[in-house]
Amino acid sequence: MTASQAAPTYDVFAIKYATNPNRTRGHNFIKDADPLAPLTMDFFSWVIIGDGKAFVVDTGMAPEKAARHGHQFIASPVETLKKLGVDPASVDTVIMTHLHYDHTGHTEHFPNAKFLLQAEEMAHVTGPYMETPFFRHAYEVDELQKFVGYLHGGRLKLHGRDHTVADGISVHWVGGHTAGQEVVRVRTKRGWVVLASDALHYEEELTRGVPFAIVFSIADMIKSHERIRELADSDDHVVAAHDPKVLDLYPAASPELAGLAVKVDEAPNRRM
Ligand SMILES: [Zn+2]
Repeated sequence: MTASQAAPTYDVFAIKYATNPNRTRGHNFIKDADPLAPLTMDFFSWVIIGDGKAFVVDTGMAPEKAARHGHQFIASPVETLKKLGVDPASVDTVIMTHLHYDHTGHTEHFPNAKFLLQAEEMAHVTGPYMETPFFRHAYEVDELQKFVGYLHGGRLKLHGRDHTVADGISVHWVGGHTAGQEVVRVRTKRGWVVLASDALHYEEELTRGVPFAIVFSIADMIKSHERIRELADSDDHVVAAHDPKVLDLYPAASPELAGLAVKVDEAPNRRM
């Protein structure tokens, strides 16, 4: 095999765009032993860069949604993407891991993109469970309507449970948090990294084997830990979606982006 035929590896960045320092462990975990202890929730989207392309994974949250839900908006993930050298207009593939409002904002900044989504997630957000406030409260109707528009405009690909996006990038249904929750597997120079998205809000869900409190199926959520471990080279190759630890574990993308973007294809620093 010549160098030009080698399997591509990708750089992967986690982009922090909002935070909520007012959350407690009791908000985040069911029957936690210390429910009043604070546990900040950070909000991330991701970008996978390599082989001459950028693949965006989720598009963050609109500032007005942050305000409505009591989160502190920090910086537009689209602006951070630009600082990472990605022109949003050049992006042709956006992976949507699920359709909760904190993952679906800013899609209008990707006018040339096709969106990828689990068919089960689209069925879920228009299906009978949405009759129940508990199941629909992290969805926003105007965000969902955008995706109906993308579907009818030929810009939304609804795929099956396991789907190959590109050589070295694939998505895998795990369910649990939502009916169509998926994780993203990426080949990097350090091996297979899994962006767990909201299958893991916090790393400790995996290490302790416990569910997050916002959940569609606790059984699928716990079972997803096994699938994540099949897909990732080790627990150190798994990136949680809302854990402030992510910013401490991984190096900043650049000095300018300290606190806003970290490079998760690098090994985490566990000595901190
Ligand atoms: Zn989320």
